[in-house]
Amino acid sequence: PYQVLVVGQGPAGVASAIYLARKGTRTALIGDRFGGQVNDTLSIENVISVPHTEGPKLASDLRTHASQYEIDMIDGVRASELLPTTDGDDLVRVRLEGDAQLSADAVVLATGAHWRQMGVPGEQEYRNKGVTYCPHCDGPLFKGKDVAVIGGGNSGIEAALDLAGVARHVTVVEFMPACKADEVLLDRVDQTTNITVLTNSAVTEVVGDGSQVTGLHYDDRATGEHRELALDGVFVQIGLMPNTDWLKGAVKLDAHGQIVIDDRGATNVPRVFAAGDCTDVPFKQIIVAEGAGAIAGLSAWESLIREQST
Ligand code: FAD
Repeated sequence: PYQVLVVGQGPAGVASAIYLARKGTRTALIGDRFGGQVNDTLSIENVISVPHTEGPKLASDLRTHASQYEIDMIDGVRASELLPTTDGDDLVRVRLEGDAQLSADAVVLATGAHWRQMGVPGEQEYRNKGVTYCPHCDGPLFKGKDVAVIGGGNSGIEAALDLAGVARHVTVVEFMPACKADEVLLDRVDQTTNITVLTNSAVTEVVGDGSQVTGLHYDDRATGEHRELALDGVFVQIGLMPNTDWLKGAVKLDAHGQIVIDDRGATNVPRVFAAGDCTDVPFKQIIVAEGAGAIAGLSAWESLIREQST
């Protein structure tokens, strides 16, 4: 068995594994897609001290960094079940798809998240060509331009307020008859002159010129009318889904399915830690995930030290 098994090879998992290896901990880093979500983006400009990089380059840099340590990297595998310690021994077990099993004294869960998609024509075609899921990441690309935010929940309205400071005009498109965001945020929207809110509106298609988004089509659900908006960018904010389905019943999840952790990255299960976008950490960003990975890794290491001394 390993001393620590890190599940998920995104920024959080890689940071955890590096911190663990630097403590001389026998560590495995398993996953199905090295680099995680960063593979889905091109320009990255908020990894502090790296003014500009691109997703695939960052993913490859993560692997290069991890390769400098004695980390057992097991690629192309997905965890399917977390099994608690048994009476016979004190190991935490992780079952893999295909039924193999790995065990360790402690586990760090870093399986990340994925953005919920609209599922309309044009969304995939224009991904990273005007369709984006991350205002913190891509907002500055739309300086002085017209954008839409899809979704009037807290993240959509926060995105709209954020983008209103950069873009020329922001249109919020909400499917339901009213936005569900907190009143205080909606009040701020009312006071912001370059935000328009369309409720009861269902996006039907993202359109473009082949290389870039030029607008979107939507149905006014009250009247049934089909309408069009000319735009340069579409920010989809209809939910970030944590990759935690496989953990239901095994660790405590919040109402959104995010793993509940304390400020040391500990879950409710002894010697099971978690980090990054799969947790209830408030902001989902690369440096946040890396910092959280370091915390979870150090906490896992500390839990082993404490066991040894008792
Ligand atoms: P992830 O990156 O999601 O990695 C988790 C890994 O675990 C994935 O490889 C996943 O496949 C794997 N996994 C999932 N389930 C299992 C399982 N059961 N078994 C094994 N492995 C599993 N952030 C920024 O700071 N700046 C940006 O510019 C930026 N741009 C972005 C652009 C896009 C399009 C997207 C989608 C995100 C962007 N982000 C950006 C957010 C950033 O990518 C995430 O916050 C960060 O990657 C989270 O790291 P993580 O390690 O927690 O999770």
